[in-house]
Amino acid sequence: MLYQEAEVERERLSLTIRTANDAIALLNAEGNVLASNPTAHAILGTERGEDFPPSLRAVLAQAKGTGTVIKSEIDLGEQTYHVAAAPVAGTGLVFTMHDVTHFRQLARLKDDFVATVSHDLRSPLTSVLGYAKLAQMRNATQQEQLEALQRIEVSAQRMTELIKDLLDLAKLEVGMADKLVAVELDRLARAVIEELEGAALTKGLTIRYELNPHPLLEADPRLVTQMWRNLIDNAIKYTDKGTVTVRVRTADNYVLGQVADTGIGISPVDLPYVFDKFYRAQSPKTKEVVGTGLGLSLVKSIVEKHGGQIWVESELGIGSTFTFSLPLRTGLSYGQDQLA
Ligand code: ADP
Repeated sequence: MLYQEAEVERERLSLTIRTANDAIALLNAEGNVLASNPTAHAILGTERGEDFPPSLRAVLAQAKGTGTVIKSEIDLGEQTYHVAAAPVAGTGLVFTMHDVTHFRQLARLKDDFVATVSHDLRSPLTSVLGYAKLAQMRNATQQEQLEALQRIEVSAQRMTELIKDLLDLAKLEVGMADKLVAVELDRLARAVIEELEGAALTKGLTIRYELNPHPLLEADPRLVTQMWRNLIDNAIKYTDKGTVTVRVRTADNYVLGQVADTGIGISPVDLPYVFDKFYRAQSPKTKEVVGTGLGLSLVKSIVEKHGGQIWVESELGIGSTFTFSLPLRTGLSYGQDQLA
């Protein structure tokens, strides 16, 4: 009976170790594997201690040398592991490895985020403080005061934009904004074109549109409007002469939206990154335009939230074309909540 109980207990323990998601291994005094679970084998791929990666060997050597438990983090290829190694009297060492890659990536992302946001907030804030001081100087002329106030306004606008984009992104990422109603993609585009036409005209640009009526989507109209606004606004911002073309057409069971411009274009080096948060092309022409680098990441989040995809084709000095596809909802009928 006692033997049976011990056997059951042993089997449970073995099952636990075998199925553990962490690597677990027992080494002899020479540092070779006496017992290990499948995860350990998958990560290390060898039973011979001398073939272990150097960073792991260093942790094991330290545990052996000091006779104490050593905890450390090591990188193996793309992965980061938390390793804990403990001496076992009369045998050798036992060690575990826990994959912490995801947490490391999150920590890195958070660091990048904090660095970028604080930089992007600090520079307009420094400008606000500087110009506020200038405006108050006793010998400042009225003209100088006016200019200082204008610059303060521009900086405040930049900060407001950054905070607005950040809040929108954060809301999307926690899944707020789920007001899905029947919307017509072309009508939302038309409203945004009307709103931004003035800015295009001021730059001498023509806005053309080819909007097929009226593909119905199940979408959050506020977000879809924002998506159009960011794309069309970018096309106007990054184009000095020519045309911005906005297209909507249906194909099978999805709808394609497109914003094409004859602007500065995006170099192949920058192209893969334009949808990343805070990314701005490195060209001097881009630097002339004020931006946060958040607009396109917001657009991408919105498209993906609605089950769609977005991509860009561009040639430096020729122009850019942003295209997105969204699933068409054929079952939708015009309801009361449909946006006009
Ligand atoms: P920003 O606030 O800088 O415009 P976005 O996320 O909207 O941020 O865009 C990211 C970057 O992609 C821009 O900084 C710019 O370098 C590039 N970009 C976006 N749209 C265009 C466009 N229509 N033409 C050329 N470059 C563009």
